[in-house]
Amino acid sequence: MVDDRSAPDKRFLENIFKTDLHCHLGGSIRLETLVELADEQGVPLPSKNIEKLKKTISPSEFGSLEEYLAAFTTTESVLRDPSALERVAYEVCEDAAKENVIYLELRFGPTNYQTDDLSPQRVVSSVLEGMKRAEKEYPIRTGLILCGIRTELERTREAAELAVIFQGRGVVGFDLAGAERGHRPKDLMKAFTPVLKNFVPVTVHAGEGYGAKSIEEAINYLRADRIGHGTKIQENTKLYDYVNVRRIALEVCPTSNVQTQVVSSIGTHPMLRYFRDDLRVCINTDNRTISDTTITNELGKCSKHLGLTRGDIKSLVKAGVKAAFLQPSERTALLDRVDEQFEGL
Ligand SMILES: [Zn+2]
Repeated sequence: MVDDRSAPDKRFLENIFKTDLHCHLGGSIRLETLVELADEQGVPLPSKNIEKLKKTISPSEFGSLEEYLAAFTTTESVLRDPSALERVAYEVCEDAAKENVIYLELRFGPTNYQTDDLSPQRVVSSVLEGMKRAEKEYPIRTGLILCGIRTELERTREAAELAVIFQGRGVVGFDLAGAERGHRPKDLMKAFTPVLKNFVPVTVHAGEGYGAKSIEEAINYLRADRIGHGTKIQENTKLYDYVNVRRIALEVCPTSNVQTQVVSSIGTHPMLRYFRDDLRVCINTDNRTISDTTITNELGKCSKHLGLTRGDIKSLVKAGVKAAFLQPSERTALLDRVDEQFEGL
């Protein structure tokens, strides 16, 4: 057995079971699939050359979170019919399963994809069909999180109602995404009523494009069980301690945080402090295509730039399982699988 205090090598990172709790469907479409679907549907793209397309969609840095979000306009342009949604959902799960992700929570805003011919219910069921197909073919367990949009009150309410309709049928949680600055969680409280009344687990993008105040409101007004990013949580000591005591997980997405310039580099990411202070921190991709990444890659970057050991990586993976929007029995079963594998390494 290799010492847990040693640095993880590539093989270790590839082989270990992993989770990805923060992964957007629209930002994780394979580039080849994007070109193929655009051709089929007659949708224009900035380029059909994969390398050129990659440079436009996933540069190493964006000017801001808002610019990062704009890249979705291209990747989501082909997600306008049921078969495309089913295919892309399947492929994201397949990509995750192939890098030994055993539990994936995929998220997307269903109202982004509805058209006159495509109801939001059909949008959600198409994505779920793709996820279920992947579950049949690969040893991966999945859950779907529906997203409300910070700037859109009515659409957030509609998405919240959909989360309740599909609760227990594949939808495991509800999220609030979109431009953070100037759009307070408090203002979205009414739109969240359906999910709060029906006890749908909640995660909120907060403390990414704006400060700790946003995290505070996500917890106090939207009853967030987890926080997407939470990068700026150290600004409020009481909140920091509360999140720690309550085991509210921070879904950290290192590469994405560098791309949106929330942190200047992975080596200076405050997640190391959060992790050492015992906050529940898990590592996620955010957008596999827009951030050009995988969980294996994210864990590799963290160990390289933050000096994480094999033991640290194990703890981060287990935190992902513990934070999963699953029933405790299922979480325990997954934890047992992870522990059993780690013991054999
Ligand atoms: Zn996100």
